[in-house]
Amino acid sequence: MTPSRSQPSDTLEPKPAMTEAPTVYVATCDLAAQLRGRAVPSSREEALLRSGTGWVPADLAITGFGAIADSVFGSAGDLRLLPDPATRVDIPADGDVPGTRLYLADQTLPDGTPWECCPRGFLTSAVEELRAELGITVIASFEHEFTLAGTAPSPPFSFERYRTAEPFGSDLVTLLEQAGFHPETWLPEYGEAQHEITLSPAEAVVAADRAVLLRELVRDLARRRGLRACFAPLLDPVGTGNGVHIHLSFRDADGRPVLHDPSRPGGLSELGTRFSAGILRHAAALTAVTAACPVSFLRLTPHRWSAGGVFLAERNREAMLRICPGTGPDAGAQLNLEYRAADATANPWLALGALLRAGLEGVRRGYPEPVVWPESATEAELSVVPPLPKTQDEALNALEKDEVVSGFFAPDLLTTYLAVRRAELDALAGLDDAERCRRIADVH
Ligand code: GLU
Ligand code: MG
Repeated sequence: MTPSRSQPSDTLEPKPAMTEAPTVYVATCDLAAQLRGRAVPSSREEALLRSGTGWVPADLAITGFGAIADSVFGSAGDLRLLPDPATRVDIPADGDVPGTRLYLADQTLPDGTPWECCPRGFLTSAVEELRAELGITVIASFEHEFTLAGTAPSPPFSFERYRTAEPFGSDLVTLLEQAGFHPETWLPEYGEAQHEITLSPAEAVVAADRAVLLRELVRDLARRRGLRACFAPLLDPVGTGNGVHIHLSFRDADGRPVLHDPSRPGGLSELGTRFSAGILRHAAALTAVTAACPVSFLRLTPHRWSAGGVFLAERNREAMLRICPGTGPDAGAQLNLEYRAADATANPWLALGALLRAGLEGVRRGYPEPVVWPESATEAELSVVPPLPKTQDEALNALEKDEVVSGFFAPDLLTTYLAVRRAELDALAGLDDAERCRRIADVH
């Protein structure tokens, strides 16, 4: 028996079946947001797709710094990494560096049945729940900001920065197009050596798979071009943050968008407003999953255009949830919600799965509709909105205490998640913020 899989419609583009690369790498993204897995010779690819390759439960407890956190998993036990063929990405050979083929995997029990702690399964089941209960398909897109160390200084948003990043930039766009990721924008950002890459919206699991892979494709290409791409939320406590903004929209069974209702505040439908209520009500616990490292909370402060408080607003880039209107005659259909309190130290499957489940709670339990702050709201007016957690410790405690959000996780998954993140926090205890930023930048 194989685990249930989403059927991502837009990854089924024709791609060559066999690879000339000598090896195929199959991977999972773990709780510390690291891509880990194994390579097999390409001659074994068919067998790999059929029955996967071995994996170990205790791997789930590896921290971003490489140590294994105290966990419920000991030295015993076996799992399989079962690749999802739809996730296939080919990295072509480049000079002396051979190409490879990458697959993302579901983690299964040895007989191929789902493992309740698989992070990808966490999202797949959330998506299925929204489909079953609300009759909607979730469409998502992850916007990534990162810093490209090794490039000459250049002004924000400038043509100079865009050109300084060549040939990396063009090679990246080409690679992402070939991978079928549909890149939308490649832009020089505001912060020092900062860039942003956006992809077209896709079905939720596809979008999260692409977020997992994109980070790795960017880092890998940068290494090959003598640069270093860093997705850490802050490289310097007073610098500009690298955010991950998660855009969400929903379609009904007939493919019609269901977030727009021009008669309501912000043009957001009742479904969208109650979904937002779920995210806002559980904001503190959610940030433990979406902003997942000790320096994430230095970024989540006002005046950084990250997320300065727990509120829903039209267009405001300080909102935790921003209503992004579309443009042109089709504007209503493009309206989407943007969750801004995430960064790349979070596992994309867990982050999106937790947001979807929290939103579903808002709809299911009929949480009161939150204020939709208009674009014109002043800083003084917004001073009444609840703050985000100030530290990772506060967020992890909120997750543990929030019975709704902690209930989204299988008990062993929750225990291990808390253990991994607290072990990372302990590893940086006593260091000043600048040093903590440096240590996080080393691993993200
Ligand atoms: N760099 C900002 C962040 O940390 C986002 C700026 C923007 O693109 O709106 O989220
Ligand atoms: Mg940006």
